[in-house]
Amino acid sequence: MPDAAFPTTAMAAMPAILIAEDETAIAETVLYALRSEGFTADHVLLGGEVVPRVRAGGVDLVVLDVGLPDITGFEVCRALRAFSEVPVIFLTARDGEIDRVVGLELGADDYVVKPFSPRELVARVRARLRRRTQAEAASWQSHGAFEIDRDGKRIRYRGRALDLTRYEYGVLEVLMLRPGAVLSRTQLMDRVWADALESSDRTVDTHIKTLRAKLRALDERGDGHEDGRDDPIRTHRGLGYSLEVGNG
Ligand code: CA
Repeated sequence: MPDAAFPTTAMAAMPAILIAEDETAIAETVLYALRSEGFTADHVLLGGEVVPRVRAGGVDLVVLDVGLPDITGFEVCRALRAFSEVPVIFLTARDGEIDRVVGLELGADDYVVKPFSPRELVARVRARLRRRTQAEAASWQSHGAFEIDRDGKRIRYRGRALDLTRYEYGVLEVLMLRPGAVLSRTQLMDRVWADALESSDRTVDTHIKTLRAKLRALDERGDGHEDGRDDPIRTHRGLGYSLEVGNG
């Protein structure tokens, strides 16, 4: 079976699995099993190829043979963990490798002992990806029509992702955490521009303006027409701004 490169954006929704395994017969069995279950799967023969591939992006999970010809799967996993949380499932031989996988706390998520059934491996891959999806969902908090992931510094409005600059994110986060509360420009500057050398009332107003435009753009795109929804950011003359989060 020829190795296909990961497809680009068109199939981005399919989880992409990278397999590092020097035994071609095993790799091809795994590739076939994953692809027939709808996964995107690609294969490398050497441990040294894994880190560059993960760094390049688009890898959702790594299936990693422990006994690779250049560097061990353990070393690969350690190198991955220095910069990535990508789930790793080890393929181990029976002779002593299992103890090392279990004992070393390398940050691997699971392991499968050779010989294994491809179906079992696919089930483990699926289970691991599901856990990650749940963890991802857990990091989002809802505030009416807004959702915020404070770890990932991301905000969604009416279910759609807002593409925000750092300061726009900061302003919206501060307002969202106290819905309805009126915050003065000085309060917003203190919280959002704490590390900036220079900021002014105008700085706050400028960012409120661009935020409003982005919120409005999402409303218009989503509904196909302007439906006269109120601007969720309210101006309180002489006092400051507040956010009406509305109903989710
Ligand atoms: Ca091997």
